Amino acid sequence: MYADFIYNVYIFSKKDLIVSLMEVPVFGIYIHIPFCIRKCPYCDFYSVSVSKGLRQTYLSALKNQILSFDPVKADTIYFGGGTPSLLMPEEISEILDVIKSKNDISADAEISMECNPATVTKNSLRDFLSAGINRLSVGCQSFHGPCLEALGRLHSVQEAVQTVNDAYDAGFRNVSADIMLGIPFEDPQIAAEDASTAASLGLQHVSAYLLRICEGTPFADGVAGVPEDDVQAECYRAFCSVMDSCGYTQYEISNFARPGYESRHNLKYWQCASWLGLGPAAHSSIGGKRYSFPADLRNYISVFGSGPASDPLACLKEEGTVDAEEYIITSLRTSNGLDLQTLSDRFGSSFGEPELSFLRECEKAGLAEISPGRIRLTRDGFLVSNSIISELL
Ligand code: SF4
Repeated sequence: MYADFIYNVYIFSKKDLIVSLMEVPVFGIYIHIPFCIRKCPYCDFYSVSVSKGLRQTYLSALKNQILSFDPVKADTIYFGGGTPSLLMPEEISEILDVIKSKNDISADAEISMECNPATVTKNSLRDFLSAGINRLSVGCQSFHGPCLEALGRLHSVQEAVQTVNDAYDAGFRNVSADIMLGIPFEDPQIAAEDASTAASLGLQHVSAYLLRICEGTPFADGVAGVPEDDVQAECYRAFCSVMDSCGYTQYEISNFARPGYESRHNLKYWQCASWLGLGPAAHSSIGGKRYSFPADLRNYISVFGSGPASDPLACLKEEGTVDAEEYIITSLRTSNGLDLQTLSDRFGSSFGEPELSFLRECEKAGLAEISPGRIRLTRDGFLVSNSIISELL
């Protein structure tokens, strides 16, 4: 079924062939590296403590999962986690070799890796670059000591700054930083300073996510100093405003880029495109359907540890179809907004008078902009996007 979707070439005429070939989706490939040195107290991403033996067993299972799927054409590869920079550069190189041996990867593919400043040196960064990583995403989180300390990170502000500088010295030309906003002891002034520091480092891309207190994390049991909602909103506005003045374009609620440096991989998520997610806790979007593998490393190793699977989709959990609702949610996160023609052509859906009237109210309140065939949220709209979207749905 999966192969039929990718190679959907039913030849009735030359025109059919051309149309059909044009529809072959170009995938992104996500690889989850489920290891961390220690769990940060706010984090609900899936990861376990790393050990050499477990890492090698995992990598062998991962290679089997890669080999299980029919080939895809892909133009982005993303190592996320967890902490992918805990892998050796030669291990990254081996994974990329297996991916490239099986799939059609564009020569100019964007190949990203998340990196924790506590785990790399200038030399290892040079080796990651040689291994094939061409975009580095550095988890800086904050450039303000007390805020960073409150997040329980393994690195200092100086180490985060050093890692970004080392990345450029090592030869990277596309570096992103992750920053968190609304974190303990932050105020709008600190958020603005973080944005200035990020810009002064010469970063091509910055992701800035508001702190979410997730169930099951130590932060959910109580954490001191988290700003009130209105202060968090001010932190967000202050950060965005400095990003604007430093020449970054906000292309998504939480993402800013220099022209041409938008994350091609993450855009696939927001555009409801196709991607293959590998590893435990990874999600996939294949043939218009969503799949995931449980957040359970031992289970993953038991499924893929002994060799490639003959029916890899059967090893994943089906999570439903990619539908109009999902397109509305993800497209309204982007500054391009929601294209009404796409909503109709791709998902056979449209807004009725009640939704349009609600959107007109949002426009009057400065939360949305309506232009022919397109709806965008403004920056203030981004701040209340969850409420707007749930009202629309
Ligand atoms: S290093 Fe990243 S993935 Fe690991 S616990 Fe901390 S925030 Fe979560």
